Amino acid sequence: MISEASFGVLRFFLHKKGLDYKLYKIKKVVFVVDYFAEMIKLMMIIMKLLSIESDSKTVKGNQFGFLTGIQYFKPSFKICPHATKGCMAGCLNTAGRGIMSNVQQARHNRTVFALTRPKEYAQQLEEEIVSLIKKAKKQDKKACLRLNGTSDIDWESNPLVYSVLSKHKKSLIIYDYTKDIDRAKKQHKKLIHYTVSYHENMKKETVKELVTMGINVAVVFRNAELPDKWLGIKVINGDKHDLRFKDTKGCIVGLKAKGKAKKDKSGFVVDA
Ligand code: SF4
Repeated sequence: MISEASFGVLRFFLHKKGLDYKLYKIKKVVFVVDYFAEMIKLMMIIMKLLSIESDSKTVKGNQFGFLTGIQYFKPSFKICPHATKGCMAGCLNTAGRGIMSNVQQARHNRTVFALTRPKEYAQQLEEEIVSLIKKAKKQDKKACLRLNGTSDIDWESNPLVYSVLSKHKKSLIIYDYTKDIDRAKKQHKKLIHYTVSYHENMKKETVKELVTMGINVAVVFRNAELPDKWLGIKVINGDKHDLRFKDTKGCIVGLKAKGKAKKDKSGFVVDA
């Protein structure tokens, strides 16, 4: 970018030569160049797939020796096929920085990019995973990855992404939440560590069955104080960090309702 001081020198020089009118043209060109430089800068920020150390939850993992890269999409019933009315209304998508329109726009662009340019998406994802691993190593931490920050995509069924994740699985811990019970039962810990998210349409027997199988269930509670037990199952505090793979097996992961979820009446948020 050209500074005001540089323009001052240029103005003086052109004035001396009687060429003041040229300044207008130069300013116009500089404005256009600056505009495109800013646009490119903005697009580069928007098109980063992984957020690292920029959200309040995954950053808590740092103190435990983990560095998490998390991806945020714009949720919809297409990318969250098991979403319910309750979870859609109380989704974390609009919590924290999610209320800002540029953040929403970035999530939308990222989603469109992943869905419409799968090859380029997988390539960029791999580049960002490699740099996440390097960054974690430098900080003497273990790299973690969550691709479904605000989505519920079956990445194991995407051959391009699956091959990227498999290639780097030894240097990464991959974990996520899902509402897809069949996927969690079939895939849990094979490549991705899953915690199932409870919702208003889930039967209590299903919760018990999952927990017995060793798959924890995350439940959003309305009260400020989490209960010790729910459905007779021990509740642990899931807000201490987001490292779900570290949780004791056979537990309910209690999360306190945040943002819009506090007003939920669908049953997605539990009163206990
Ligand atoms: S499935 Fe998860 S990410 Fe999708 S709308 Fe529901 S809470 Fe949000």
